[in-house]
Amino acid sequence: MKVYKFGGGVLKDASNMRQLIPLMKKENGPLVVVVSAFGKTTNALEKVAENYYEKTGRAAMILSDIRKLHDEMAQELFPGREDEAFSQLSGVFGSLETFMALAPRGSFNRIYDRIVSCGEMLSSLLVSAWLNRNGILNRWIDIRECLLTDDCYRDGKIQWAVSEERVKNVFLRENDGISVTQGFLGATADGHPVTLGREGSDYTAAVLAAMLDAEKVVIWKDVPGVMNADPQWMDTGEKLEEISYLEAVELSYYGAKIIHPKTIKPLENKKIPLYVKPFANPEAPGTLIHQIQRKMDLVPVYIRKENQVLITVLPRDYSFVVEESLGKIFSLFNRYRLRVNLVQNSAISISLCVDGRKDKVEKILAGLQKEFNVKYNTGLELITIRHYTPEAIARVLDGKTVMIEQRTRGTVYFLLKA
Ligand code: ASP
Ligand code: MG
Repeated sequence: MKVYKFGGGVLKDASNMRQLIPLMKKENGPLVVVVSAFGKTTNALEKVAENYYEKTGRAAMILSDIRKLHDEMAQELFPGREDEAFSQLSGVFGSLETFMALAPRGSFNRIYDRIVSCGEMLSSLLVSAWLNRNGILNRWIDIRECLLTDDCYRDGKIQWAVSEERVKNVFLRENDGISVTQGFLGATADGHPVTLGREGSDYTAAVLAAMLDAEKVVIWKDVPGVMNADPQWMDTGEKLEEISYLEAVELSYYGAKIIHPKTIKPLENKKIPLYVKPFANPEAPGTLIHQIQRKMDLVPVYIRKENQVLITVLPRDYSFVVEESLGKIFSLFNRYRLRVNLVQNSAISISLCVDGRKDKVEKILAGLQKEFNVKYNTGLELITIRHYTPEAIARVLDGKTVMIEQRTRGTVYFLLKA
């Protein structure tokens, strides 16, 4: 069993959908194909959710643009409109429109998941139909019936044991074939869709691979492999041939966008290798992430996280930030599931750098302000360099103001005012 994951960056237009055919023609299975939403659909659906929830009157219009894009793609792929895919797409849009015809009820996050989950439903239906049309016979599987999560909407936690049983039952039923399913999604026990965190399709691929004891996972990308910097930020042109699970965890933890941070653990547990390969050149080696014991000489790897917030907490009486206060502070971040990217403490304060998730940050600030004096700065960037050199540091600092700097033997972090 192999697991292939195609992201929105590669599944973005009819021409790439055509390129999928020669790549998939070589596969006879058993193979699980995990897809995320086409192109920027998830971002657009987020806008639909926000506008619907805030009753701006614009939600239907944004949704109709999304519908138009999917329709155009379907028409290009299936001229004559006779394919079943059309009625399937219509079904997804129709039920969403029915849902949105009523006034919003319940929490925003729950509504978000109902709306945003449609992106993967649409893309998987279209990919499955397109492969079938081209003789690559496959089963479409509704992952919401397999991956059971808790009800932490937008950040669902998979209930492993039940999910594993369902996944095995469903995916191993016709063991030698190809299945097409959705990344990024699961559902609560009562069937409400739950998303697994933005960019979560890689994680889905890893989870399915682990549950099915796959021999490997391939993430098909629009880049040659894992680069040592995000090419859209800093074009170094350097690709990493091979990295260990540990290195990959470090890279994704600090925000390397190439793979979702949660992806590695399920694979590492079962020692399943992960390939990141270029969709445009399937024969190229890409990057291999696997178990490596030997010591490796690695080039500097640059990671940038934008939109960071630095929160500085000072006890009212200027006492040291003792363990008790620290516990309280961290439990607030934990309650709102906001990860702390960097911590710096001094005699009278503790500073924490977190992602600028406005919804969560506001709640945390309100909580902290009840007991402490709090200061904060927004719009910062956190740069991490693994395997740093003096030249690598000079390259990123270039005229910027450093708010916090931390170094370990292998890694340096700079919190910068952009
Ligand atoms: N479509 C989702 C997102 O854009 C999941 C993914 O792409 O992995 O966040
Ligand atoms: Mg996506």
